[in-house]
Amino acid sequence: MSDTLVQLKDTLKRNGYSLTTARRTVFEALQSQPPRSMRELATDCLPAINRASLYRTIELFERLDIVHRLHIGWKYKLELSDAFQPHHHHAICTVCGVIVTLPEDEAIERRLAEMATQAEFALHEHQLELRGKCRDCVNG
Ligand SMILES: [Zn+2]
Ligand SMILES: [Zn+2]
Repeated sequence: MSDTLVQLKDTLKRNGYSLTTARRTVFEALQSQPPRSMRELATDCLPAINRASLYRTIELFERLDIVHRLHIGWKYKLELSDAFQPHHHHAICTVCGVIVTLPEDEAIERRLAEMATQAEFALHEHQLELRGKCRDCVNG
């Protein structure tokens, strides 16, 4: 079992849940992927698990902070939280919806931490998303 799967198992156990096949299947579909819509996840996970258990699993994962939502207009995509994958930011194309993962940037992280401290704010997490047009949509 991989380290992140062990971590998932521990998180579930701490909250009174076990690692079922459905939970494992959904988690693995979310790993090392760009953020996925519910529809894309369904494509990956069905028919291995049924739609009802996919929805129940996502609901549980969101409640336990295993997964978070990335809002794109009125739609959203799902991805693993920072506890389960390295912290990163996104650039989202508002025309075609492509999501680009931006490289880690120490200077930005440090500056955000300083800003929080200056505001006397105990920072737990942050999301940073750039919105605009991707290269294809600019040139198209
Ligand atoms: Zn685009
Ligand atoms: Zn950051």
